[in-house]
Amino acid sequence: MTATVIDGKAFAATVRGKVAEHVAQLKEVHGITPGLAVVLVGEDPASQVYVRSKGKQTVEVGMNSYEHKLSADTSEADLLALIDQLNNDPAVHGILVQLPLPKHLNEDLVINSISPAKDVDGFHISNVGLLGTGQKAMVPCTPLGCLMLLRDYHGSLSGMNAVVIGRSNIVGKPMAQLLLGDSCTVTIAHSRTKDLPEVVRRADIVVAAVGRPEMVVGDWIKEGATVIDVGINRIEKPEGGTRLVGDVHYESAAAVAGAITPVPGGVGPMTIACLLANTLTACCRANALPEPDGLTA
Ligand code: NDP
Repeated sequence: MTATVIDGKAFAATVRGKVAEHVAQLKEVHGITPGLAVVLVGEDPASQVYVRSKGKQTVEVGMNSYEHKLSADTSEADLLALIDQLNNDPAVHGILVQLPLPKHLNEDLVINSISPAKDVDGFHISNVGLLGTGQKAMVPCTPLGCLMLLRDYHGSLSGMNAVVIGRSNIVGKPMAQLLLGDSCTVTIAHSRTKDLPEVVRRADIVVAAVGRPEMVVGDWIKEGATVIDVGINRIEKPEGGTRLVGDVHYESAAAVAGAITPVPGGVGPMTIACLLANTLTACCRANALPEPDGLTA
């Protein structure tokens, strides 16, 4: 079997298109422009790239982008004061604090100071609780993107065996909750899981969020399974230079799987698209307007 390639880049463009359409309508009919505030503390180069990209895509879908760049030695009190100001700003519907934060800042405290209704990353403890109890939440962007790709490919996920490899708060755990919400039978695997290949072989859906380059190989995959590769790892090429690979060994897995996401061009582009979708959703909820179809969990 040669797997169908799930084109996350194309699907992300479709999501951005839907967001842009809805934003245009919000402006025209209600005079409302959704706004996303991104807070960056320090000069981490990777974070700077992400923040630039988020700002650019926010403007491209017609939303307002507010960037707050703070120096690496910003005090916790000053950061919390900025978040408080953004929480109370009616032009701001979504707030994202770029992680990781410098060591002297308490990440949990900072994230939990964001108003849950504006927490477009879905990391606030209230949103974690709402998702865990099957209530309307702000859902973390990367797992939401994976869910959208799976729903688009399969339609219903009901009754499927899903194995999520990784139990982080930002990917593995919310991914498992979302799959459970769509009535999958869910297994969460991690570094202590016994006989991981055998666990993965039972899966109709495999979501790999491990952070280990090409760890999941074709021999672990059930014939026809759908493989979602969340991993982003930069490895050295034998001929020099580097390249991006996922947590799945693409060639061997694609020879067995029914469908697979590539790296790059799979889950990666969905993350920012879902951030824009979440900002739109937050704006609609803040204004008691109907939410757009197909852009939430
Ligand atoms: P974390 O490091 O927070 O979590 C990794 C998880 O993998 C842990 O639960 C860990 O288990 C588990 N794990 C590690 N080694 C093994 C192993 N040998 N066997 C089984 N499980 C193992 O990573 P994240 O969840 O933040 O990210 C995972 C990957 O996804 C990374 O490659 C990251 O770059 C990528 N990513 C991509 C995004 C995107 O936009 N596409 C967004 C976010 C992340 P344990 O808990 O027992 O230690």
